Amino acid sequence: MSNIPKKRIAIFGSTGSIGTQALDVIAANPDLFSAEVLTAMTNHTLLIEQAIRFEPAVVVIGEETKYHLVKEALAGKDIKVFCGEQALQEVASMSIYDMMLAAIVGYAGLKPTLRAIEAGKPIALANKETLVVAGDIIIRKALEYRVPIIPVDSEHSAIFQCLVGEGRNKIEKIILTASGGPFFGKKPNFLVNVKREHALQHPNWSMGAKITIDSATLMNKGLEVIEAKWLFNLRPDQIQVVVHPQSIIHSLVQFEDGSIKAQMGLPDMKLPIQYAMAFPQRIPNDFPRYNFIQPSTLHFHEPDLKTFRNLALAIEAMKQGGNMPCVLNAANELAVYAFLRNRIGFLDMTDVVEKTMMQIPYIEHPTLEDYFETDGEARTFAASIIHLYG
Ligand code: NAD
Ligand code: MG
Repeated sequence: MSNIPKKRIAIFGSTGSIGTQALDVIAANPDLFSAEVLTAMTNHTLLIEQAIRFEPAVVVIGEETKYHLVKEALAGKDIKVFCGEQALQEVASMSIYDMMLAAIVGYAGLKPTLRAIEAGKPIALANKETLVVAGDIIIRKALEYRVPIIPVDSEHSAIFQCLVGEGRNKIEKIILTASGGPFFGKKPNFLVNVKREHALQHPNWSMGAKITIDSATLMNKGLEVIEAKWLFNLRPDQIQVVVHPQSIIHSLVQFEDGSIKAQMGLPDMKLPIQYAMAFPQRIPNDFPRYNFIQPSTLHFHEPDLKTFRNLALAIEAMKQGGNMPCVLNAANELAVYAFLRNRIGFLDMTDVVEKTMMQIPYIEHPTLEDYFETDGEARTFAASIIHLYG
């Protein structure tokens, strides 16, 4: 193994849930990986700690007011420090790394990821919003620059793993599993009173705040349906969502002959992170294993689209195509942050998304500029609705 050069990883969003777990994987496999780029939006303390421990070539702090703190703390070390949104994009095109782990949350991940693709860097993609907003352009660019996009999202990693070795064999459909989140089985009369504290408690996964809320509303599954469409080149009718509360089967692929492959394991994001970073290798680890003998039953249910309307809206946005998923994503980001600040209720998040989808002009074949504009317009409109809630 020592003859293989280390893969130099750029972690965009290193202070987040995915970013910190990726650093755990790197720390456990120092012969295989090094962290060459670390970036954070606000958490300069953690970024500094990470930089001292992993000695990357470059760090980027998003918040410009924190630049001098990071710069001072790393003075005397051979680490370049940059700040601001523009720097993220510039660093993404540098030759100092081999693979980008796209682990920024939300729309903010789009531009750096695009730049990395244009620089020919393989992408380990956690940031699903990038594909939701501009999936057609991202996939086209990845083909043009011959850049592999390896999913980190556990469901998509599962499907990707099921497809390895299948060549051109046709997919009949994929089955995306959903945990159902903390409010599985609940009805609107319950959900109307849900507060951020309840919604932030996920039964199976520990994740960043935005995706945890998205999991509670099932918007996360909606975003994942769109993500799957682009990653695996599927028609909307080839994607089925099944609620599987134990999160042991991470997703399934059904082939033309009716045969179904599943990928399974205990819910631990380090596994898909490690798989994407090491692909096509599998590397050993000491993560806990699933035990079939222990009494446990795997359950499967139909998702409740009438109660969890965000999933229905995302499927609708996918079917409409064009800039509609971009509108959905922008409105949802604003709605989630408003809910997290206790400005709107749990069910209001769906209203904000739905009204924004009805308002923003539809564009069938958007350019990248159209996506940027759509995102801005959708945010402005969603903010005006949120304002009405007081
Ligand atoms: P998080 O909130 O824990 O971390 C987000 C990271 O992005 C942080 O490092 C933060 O500093 C950075 N960031 C936030 N806003 C930024 C901005 N405007 N500009 C630059 N950097 C910014 O999020 P997370 O849970 O790690 O999720 C990251 C991405 O991975 C999301 O797209 C999420 O949907 C996806 N994902 C996460 C999980 C999980 O288990 N956490 C699972 C599957 C997919
Ligand atoms: Mg997922």
